[in-house]
Amino acid sequence: MNKLSLNNFIPYGRHFISDDDINSILNVLNGKLITQGEFVPKFENKVAKKVNAKHGIAVNSATSALHLACLALDVGVGDIVWTSPISFVASANCALYCGAKVDFVDIDNATGLIDIKKLEIKLANAEKNNSLPKVLIPVHLAGSSCDMNKINSLSKKYSFLIIEDASHAIGGKYENQSVGNCKYSSITVFSFHPVKIITTGEGGLLTTNKNDLAEKIRMLRSHGIVRDKNKFQYSTEGSWKYEQQLLGFNYRMTDLQAALGLSQLNRLDEIVIERNRQLKFYYEILKDLPLTHLIIPENVVSSVHLAVIKLKKVSPQYYLDVFEGMRSEGIGVQLHYIPIYKQPYFSKFNFQEKNFPGSEEYSSTAISIPIFPGLKEKEQLRVRDSLKKFL
Ligand SMILES: *Cc1c(COP(=O)(O)O)cnc(C)c1O
Repeated sequence: MNKLSLNNFIPYGRHFISDDDINSILNVLNGKLITQGEFVPKFENKVAKKVNAKHGIAVNSATSALHLACLALDVGVGDIVWTSPISFVASANCALYCGAKVDFVDIDNATGLIDIKKLEIKLANAEKNNSLPKVLIPVHLAGSSCDMNKINSLSKKYSFLIIEDASHAIGGKYENQSVGNCKYSSITVFSFHPVKIITTGEGGLLTTNKNDLAEKIRMLRSHGIVRDKNKFQYSTEGSWKYEQQLLGFNYRMTDLQAALGLSQLNRLDEIVIERNRQLKFYYEILKDLPLTHLIIPENVVSSVHLAVIKLKKVSPQYYLDVFEGMRSEGIGVQLHYIPIYKQPYFSKFNFQEKNFPGSEEYSSTAISIPIFPGLKEKEQLRVRDSLKKFL
């Protein structure tokens, strides 16, 4: 890429930091504690309240959150976890961290979300083969919630547990209720990586309505250590004592990050409205081009983490030409995602492409185009002009 196009480069997503955000962090830096102070619990409570969940537990990434969610649900050797192949690798890796097996449910290529009919068929087959999953991780791709009501009904019929990977979807709604309220799941996971809806630099958060899960996740986040005397297993006199009761990790979020998150959270509604506005503007200015858009289901308000267009024909050369053409003009297009089963690390599991026609079609036609707070209308028009040239 030459210098000119680097200066003009429009990424597919970008964080948005305000003066309030900066002041919020400075405030922590000037205070007594920069980690394990008052800001992490404040942030946790504020997110939990915002999404209408009982508990919020902040961690250092959504990857850590997914790992702890699996551990809290006792995923281990001999268990099977299902997720979507059209996701970031972390959605599947969390199962592998726990020694479990991973399998994928194909997506509906119109929405990019887990295909409920295929899920039903796969569950019926798995029941016959004695290979039902312990946990299903639906992924709310691009900010649109999966059909959680239906998934929840199936979870009762086939007794599996549900972790929502809502890394893309904070601020989104399903059936008029906030994503993350865990009405239909045990645990929901959010990501605060800078390309996501709101950021803490790096960071993640779990919500749950279950006291026992929340307690276990809090312990696992910090080495499996307990400091509350009433919960000790061994008797004690001294106030120096703490007990490690589980094999945990250091997955803690710092107060600096939580302060940034608190400040960003104040703008969440605004950000989601702005992302939806930009998406609508794309619909308008791209309506005469030979492409379609990812469908947002009717009972969903998307947080619009991604603006995904779909090319009208499946042709590797055409896809490459459009993609590289736009990149050469400084438009930071991206594919979200290469199907996880196609990653080299997953080759040992011998997944067959033919079992995932929706994912194959999706990943050979979908392109994420830039969308983020601060993206200007004239930049969106530049995206259109570039698309027009290469489609
Ligand atoms: C970003 C992302 C993750 C991982 O988030 P981190 O906070 O970067 O660990 C997991 N799942 C999905 C769907 C993501 O997009």
